[in-house]
Amino acid sequence: MIIQRVVLNSRPGKNGNPVAENFRVEEFSLPDALNEGQVQVRTLYLSVDPYMRCKMNEDTGTDYLAPWQLAQVADGGGIGVVEESKHQKLTKGDFVTSFYWPWQTKAILDGNGLEKVDPQLVDGHLSYFLGAIGMPGLTSLIGVQEKGHISAGSNQTMVVSGAAGACGSLAGQIGHLLGCSRVVGICGTQEKCLFLTSELGFDAAVNYKTGNVAEQLREACPGGVDVYFDNVGGDISNAVISQMNENSHIILCGQISQYSNDVPYPPPLPPAVEAIRKERNITRERFTVLNYKDKFEPGILQLSQWFKEGKLKVKETMAKGLENMGVAFQSMMTGGNVGKQIVCISEDSSL
Ligand code: NAP
Repeated sequence: MIIQRVVLNSRPGKNGNPVAENFRVEEFSLPDALNEGQVQVRTLYLSVDPYMRCKMNEDTGTDYLAPWQLAQVADGGGIGVVEESKHQKLTKGDFVTSFYWPWQTKAILDGNGLEKVDPQLVDGHLSYFLGAIGMPGLTSLIGVQEKGHISAGSNQTMVVSGAAGACGSLAGQIGHLLGCSRVVGICGTQEKCLFLTSELGFDAAVNYKTGNVAEQLREACPGGVDVYFDNVGGDISNAVISQMNENSHIILCGQISQYSNDVPYPPPLPPAVEAIRKERNITRERFTVLNYKDKFEPGILQLSQWFKEGKLKVKETMAKGLENMGVAFQSMMTGGNVGKQIVCISEDSSL
């Protein structure tokens, strides 16, 4: 059977911005027969994520991420439906997901590497398993729980950068749910600011592309900052950290502003900001969601419950078609998304 797949066409270079043309679509022949333990799946939705920028380099700079190879199929979060199965625990019609789903319209996969999901958890919105009720949701929830030190009733102010994206939009809402009295988002457009305050319940939002971030933050956080969910790093984070209170906490989720620069992860703070951090005893510990696998199952149930109760609002930006994986990735890396950027590969989840 002939299917389509997306391979890495070229590398952007350690200091280059990724573009859609770094990927190309090609046709590929899928083997006709399954081996024992394998399943044939049809891809429904694929995820594009910032960490993939590191996989585009020859050396990803981290031990838990392997680089994509030139001319080889790319992979990442994906969900699909089982069309044929030679795996004991999976049957035709099951919905399955994986962090290592190949960017293909169909694939033959080892059933042991797949996780069966229950569509009821997401009220049938299967793509949510790649966002709010999946890895980004778990990142926000576990990150806030493990590194945020939020204690309800103690009048804490939380700031979130990258606030209108997949993790940020959830982290701010979770901050409120766990007891922060004030949540302020930082993002790149007025439309996103309005989305945060009018739809997600953020108390204020700052557009980092217009005006002075430090000044806007001072106005939005009159009592200083107690918890900072950092998705971006760089100048934005330097401005936030400078306004953090004593004994406050940074949740070091990601540093997207630095991913196309050849710097170590996490990038060290500039000396003056590091001095402030030390003087005020502000914690900034590395956080990787994959280190908390034992918390995934209860985390998914919690996120699903909040979603069903209407306490966690979920937003997606949906691109369409395998041929648009590269376009969607470039768009997400440059702020084209509100909420989670997803690519719909096949809309039909029936067999
Ligand atoms: P996302 O926020 O949905 O998308 C990326 C967003 O980053 C864009 O929409 C853009 O929004 C913003 N951005 C891009 N370049 C920027 C820059 N130079 N300065 C400021 N903002 C910039 O992506 P996500 O999947 O939720 O990931 C967010 C962060 O979490 C990333 O750093 C990612 O690596 C990290 N992460 C960490 C873990 C973990 O285990 N620690 C797991 C998942 C994700 P604007 O319009 O606001 O610029």
